[in-house]
Amino acid sequence: MFLKNIVVEKNKEVKSDHFIMSFKDKEIAEDVRKGQFVELKINDGLGNLLRKPISIHDVYENKVSLLYKVIGKGTKALSKYKKGEELSILGPLGNGFPNIADDKEILLVAGGIGFAPFSLIMREVKNWKLFYGFRDASEFLLEGATSDIHYENEQIFITTDNGSMGTKGFVTDKLEEYLRENSQNKIIFSCGPNIMMKKVAEIANQYNVVSYLSLEEYMGCGIGVCAGCVAKIKNPDKPDGWEFKKVCKDGPVFRGDEIIWD
Ligand SMILES: Cc1cc2nc3c(=O)[nH]c(=O)nc-3n(C[C@H](O)[C@H](O)[C@H](O)COP(=O)(O)OP(=O)(O)OC[C@H]3O[C@@H](n4cnc5c(N)ncnc54)[C@H](O)[C@@H]3O)c2cc1C
Repeated sequence: MFLKNIVVEKNKEVKSDHFIMSFKDKEIAEDVRKGQFVELKINDGLGNLLRKPISIHDVYENKVSLLYKVIGKGTKALSKYKKGEELSILGPLGNGFPNIADDKEILLVAGGIGFAPFSLIMREVKNWKLFYGFRDASEFLLEGATSDIHYENEQIFITTDNGSMGTKGFVTDKLEEYLRENSQNKIIFSCGPNIMMKKVAEIANQYNVVSYLSLEEYMGCGIGVCAGCVAKIKNPDKPDGWEFKKVCKDGPVFRGDEIIWD
């Protein structure tokens, strides 16, 4: 884990309100594990410093990239950074997704900007399929954000809410349809809205597939000190059978069958 200033090399809008920011950093590039994130200290231009967690989207030849969607004041201010400007960064943070043996097929289930951590996996792992759901075609990020990653069309299943691309409907329906025919030797990694991941965990359970879900919680410090981002995780050794775990430090990735969804 490093705390340092990086120099922005690129900060470009790839689709409406979706940006890729990249910077060169050998130490972070060599240290990062799939599914980890960084905490950015973003200057909003009015003297306020806003800390925001953003996943590591991709790493290639010491170049680290982040993919983010402009939602509120933090990401809006981030989108204003220009090439050559400095940004304070803490990371890589969190546990990330586990390493999986090559004989297992990894089913990546992404909802919207939840696609962000998956590029690095698609680059490094051979045996994967992507189930990618978003609102409409304007949010499709695979070409804009991941242009140099090789994949076959059969590896990708797309759903949109309005049917403007892929199949109309929920990405979890596509996942279920696939598992109905092929549930052997699979493992699921998922990132997206909690409501989608809860469904992913249910489907994984139904087909006896282990799932790992990257939870998104509001975070303060990002290193487990403030306890601002907790999730209820099963633990049979505790009197109530569960405990609070810190999403930033113990997660953000947890096994789907261990999460208690309130
Ligand atoms: C581990 C982790 C990794 C993350 N990785 C990424 C990433 O790779 N790319 C990325 O774009 N974001 C990522 N996020 C989310 C990101 O950190 C911000 O929380 C989010 O972008 C909004 O920040 P903001 O300051 O722009 O909005 P805020 O000012 O915090 O919020 C503005 C408004 O938007 C609502 N809002 C906030 N967050 C969301 C949301 N996620 N969906 C819908 N409404 C929301 C709030 O309720 C509020 O009303 C990650 C979060 C975590 C915990």
